[in-house]
Amino acid sequence: MTKVYKTSSAAETIALGEEIGRRLKGGDLIAYSGGLGAGKTTITRGISIGMGLGDEVTSPTFALVNEYRGDSLSLIHFDMYRINSADDLETTGFFDYMDEDTVLAVEWSENIAEELPEDALRIDIQRIDEDSREISITAPEGDDRFEDISY
Ligand code: ADP
Ligand code: MG
Repeated sequence: MTKVYKTSSAAETIALGEEIGRRLKGGDLIAYSGGLGAGKTTITRGISIGMGLGDEVTSPTFALVNEYRGDSLSLIHFDMYRINSADDLETTGFFDYMDEDTVLAVEWSENIAEELPEDALRIDIQRIDEDSREISITAPEGDDRFEDISY
């Protein structure tokens, strides 16, 4: 099931992200697609806020992975832009982070397509113009958490 949302500012994308963050649970994996500057890091900031983990999200471009830890739920944010082998992926700790108290959010998930779980939540962000974005959320059959979001 795919639901499409539209935003007309970064603040609106953050607000949508907050609502998504509130609906996430441990074990979820968000697989982003959408080019440079689409808003993947921006929506992740909203998701972190919605999960109660603060607004300090920055791009994991250099570290490859940033961790935002909470008491019951953590967010692990990856940038797979430069990942192009199984060995590379291993070095990010991708497989070690997966557990029931953790949400993974993966930018450039296209680069690790074969390693993504079947039940990944797909978030595609398309840049319409400078301030407008089309944000498509695809959840597995039967998962209706993201179908009716007001933001
Ligand atoms: P990505 O992680 O996909 O490369 P970023 O989130 O780092 O993208 O950057 C998105 C940029 O686009 C930011 O500078 C942000 O302020 C700007 N922007 C403008 N309009 C929007 C919008 N509607 N949603 C998200 N970001 C937007
Ligand atoms: Mg980014």
